[in-house]
Amino acid sequence: MIRDPRYDVLFEPVKIGPKTAKNRFYQPGHCNGMGRMRPRGHARMRGIKAEGGWAVINTEHCGFHPNAEMYGESVLTLWDDKDIPILAIAADAVHEHGALLGVQLPYSGGFFANRLSRDVPMGPADRPVPEFDPVQARAMDKRDIRDMQGWFRAGVRRALTAGVDIIQVSSQYSSASFHMISRRNRRNDEYGGSVENRCRLLKEFIEIAKDETKGEAAVTVRVIIEELIGERGLVAHEDGKEVIELLAELPDLWDVVIGNWEQDSAPSRFAGENIHEQYFNFMKSVTTKPVVGVGRFTSPDTMASLIKRGVLDMIGAARPSIADPFIPKKIEEGRPEDIRECIGCNICASSHFLGVNYRCTQNPTAGEEHRRDWHPERMNPKGSGDSVLVVGAGPAGLEAARALGARGYQVALAEATTELGGRVTRESKLPGLAEWARVRDWRIGQLHKLPNVEIYRDSELIAEQILEFGFQHVALATGSFWRKDGYGRVNGDAVPGSEGAHVVSPDDVMAGRMPEGPVVVFDDDRYYMGNVMAEVLRKAGREVTLVTPDADIAAFSKITLEMDRVYRHMDELGIAMITHHNLEEVGDGQVLLRHVRTDREMTLPANGVVMVTARLPNSGLYDALMADEAKLAEAGIKSVTRIGDCNAPAAIVHATYAGHRYARELDTAPSDRLFRHELPYLHAEG
Ligand code: ADP
Ligand code: SF4
Repeated sequence: MIRDPRYDVLFEPVKIGPKTAKNRFYQPGHCNGMGRMRPRGHARMRGIKAEGGWAVINTEHCGFHPNAEMYGESVLTLWDDKDIPILAIAADAVHEHGALLGVQLPYSGGFFANRLSRDVPMGPADRPVPEFDPVQARAMDKRDIRDMQGWFRAGVRRALTAGVDIIQVSSQYSSASFHMISRRNRRNDEYGGSVENRCRLLKEFIEIAKDETKGEAAVTVRVIIEELIGERGLVAHEDGKEVIELLAELPDLWDVVIGNWEQDSAPSRFAGENIHEQYFNFMKSVTTKPVVGVGRFTSPDTMASLIKRGVLDMIGAARPSIADPFIPKKIEEGRPEDIRECIGCNICASSHFLGVNYRCTQNPTAGEEHRRDWHPERMNPKGSGDSVLVVGAGPAGLEAARALGARGYQVALAEATTELGGRVTRESKLPGLAEWARVRDWRIGQLHKLPNVEIYRDSELIAEQILEFGFQHVALATGSFWRKDGYGRVNGDAVPGSEGAHVVSPDDVMAGRMPEGPVVVFDDDRYYMGNVMAEVLRKAGREVTLVTPDADIAAFSKITLEMDRVYRHMDELGIAMITHHNLEEVGDGQVLLRHVRTDREMTLPANGVVMVTARLPNSGLYDALMADEAKLAEAGIKSVTRIGDCNAPAAIVHATYAGHRYARELDTAPSDRLFRHELPYLHAEG
């Protein structure tokens, strides 16, 4: 296939100082939970993006001194020469495919408590670190700044030894340069006061990097130009612009960021593609250097338009490159419909906070590239001539059928209803979740390209039929359903009164069965479903109180970078929120709550209750098949495997992963199913 000429502009080279990017696809730094703890995993992941066509690939945060470290988040370090090989293998992996590797070298002094090194943090001011550690940062004096700049210089030198092409100076939300630039800088020396003074530290970092690289590598800047907090913070078209004007030609490229991580990686529930253009649209008028911006770009039309309109020179895309590391290749090869579009769920970000290899709802191979040798575009060939029946076309079943089909198996996918997609189809109709339908749509698009996969809709299968069909393997992906009785994390038994007709589950609400108000939504699930249910009921005119035993509503959404927006959204909708309370009893017209720490009780008026606590697997078909193993053998069925929610209910990311893993591992030896465990290597000391 040939490339659509409308997208030719995306494949023009871009000069970045002494280096040339082969096209306009730029992967800004993103955390991945591997970093220095799992360096081969990190390098392989970056290398696959280079193979997928990205011209510039940046690492995540790479600290250059233990005086500013962020343990236990797993990022990169260049503290001493022993760190160099970790970066060097990433550089090699990227160079193999003609891409450039950039390293992000921020000084995050004052932002983290230095939990590992126990060094006293240094920042622009004497101020407690933002997390809860009982630790304050010391305000840097000029000697401290000189020391820190010396460490930076040494870090640059090590990065060059590792073979990186780009040194990225960071002025992001956790870096000292940004804290100096911020309006909250209260210093009264030459680093405070005027905008010129506030950006002095950033300027000095750029100058040191230029001086140390001597044209051997490019020097770029990643910078926040708008904080989205009104007059309290940097404003793009005011002092944000002044910063760029003052330093306009100093770096080799500008990579602009809007807001903190929550805003920069805005979740699709609250923001669509390209929401920040209004803030970075002035950039090209104040600098001749290449400009990069992000906006969860997955549409080649949006990308080409930003270049053609002269807004950006390179398309920055972190999450889209995680969901599909092959976006550039797919556009280049004239098959943009194959792009696996990011759904903006931010599950990838959550893994960073959990300190584990990152994962992605759309791309089950993310984080598994090295340790399981999973490639996002290539499957292992089939291990036999067997055929496979997949029952249930939710995210697990769709992914299993797709990936098995790609391996070359003969596959039948049977779905009970007339619609494919299972929970994704149901949930994407809920407010804010429309983009999640991409999980279904991409897979259906790919399945239609596989002649060896047959899809049967409106086909609710029973065990007897399966025994007659003649498939050798059966994968059950029949999903789960929500309980109504309140059993869950806190309640180990049904909540008294929960059998009443006015007590419903999310499945009821999604099917249009809504209780009368006032309604209490009891959320012991602690992710999105509880507050989305509250929203649905509120929009249907009910008075709603969202109750959770946790200290926060939607606790998990803190690490998907959604929590602040969820709170604000609930508040704007007029939904009352009660935390720290368990639902003890459902009565007539009221519910009884108990504080989980103090045991103090309270009652709340309620004519209806939505229980969002736990789900039960649809295990009937599995139980029926497994009831008589001799019959299975007689029918020639070698394996029956539960995958996804019908095995153990979890988030959509777990379902796509389960489907993929099943497909990868069919007909493989158990020893091939273990993952490579990267362990620290004990080298000689000294
Ligand atoms: P998962 O998240 O694990 O993919 P879902 O609940 O999203 O699970 O999807 C399960 C799918 O299985 C639903 O579309 C449902 O209609 C289908 N299903 C359940 N039981 C059967 C059955 N006996 N035969 C065919 N399809 C079934
Ligand atoms: Fe996008 Fe979600 Fe994948 Fe992150 S986890 S890249 S937000 S689809």
